[in-house]
Amino acid sequence: MPESNSSAKLTVITGPSGVGKGSLVKELLQIHQDLWLSVSATTRPPRDGEIDGRDYFFLSSKEFSRIETSGGLLEWAEFAGNKYGTPLKPVKEKLQEGKQVLLEIELEGARKIKKNFPESFHIFLAPPSMEELEKRIRGRGTDNEDSIIRRLKRAKEELDAQYEFDAIVINQELIRTRQEVEQIMNLEQ
Ligand code: 5GP
Repeated sequence: MPESNSSAKLTVITGPSGVGKGSLVKELLQIHQDLWLSVSATTRPPRDGEIDGRDYFFLSSKEFSRIETSGGLLEWAEFAGNKYGTPLKPVKEKLQEGKQVLLEIELEGARKIKKNFPESFHIFLAPPSMEELEKRIRGRGTDNEDSIIRRLKRAKEELDAQYEFDAIVINQELIRTRQEVEQIMNLEQ
């Protein structure tokens, strides 16, 4: 397992829904202006407070399929009944500009990126336990029971796959997690 990814320009943060990927990425972006986070497209409806173009590009199934079939996505996957994908063009542009690009995506997408971009670096964010993960998913109050059950079932599969990735970070406490990730990514602290 590599100790750092100093040369990687494309970093993928993956891990089960509810583990805290979003909060981690938000912290990293606030502190490190040279990082750029890809905004994904999704068919999931917006949650309260989510803004189109900032949190996601919220698309209909038809719009999503049109972009996908025209080769506009770097990767995409189905998750808990909705589709999610990474728009290709902005990622390509940012990489050409020399920016360090971050993707915050689920397991299948991360696997596709790993296969197609072997030089990318993948961090798996793991919860301290399944009980804690369930508490976090329920605690954020954003999903209905059906979605919670799907997400927890999927979380077990995702946790089984954690050893496929370059680094595993257990998200016990956000500040410590952020510091660990900064070290792994060779970001100035
Ligand atoms: P949520 O509905 O909670 O925002 O996201 C559900 C899952 O989809 C999360 O694990 C999130 O990381 C993942 N996700 C978000 N955007 C993308 C994407 O562009 N591609 C893939 N494969 N997964 C994504």
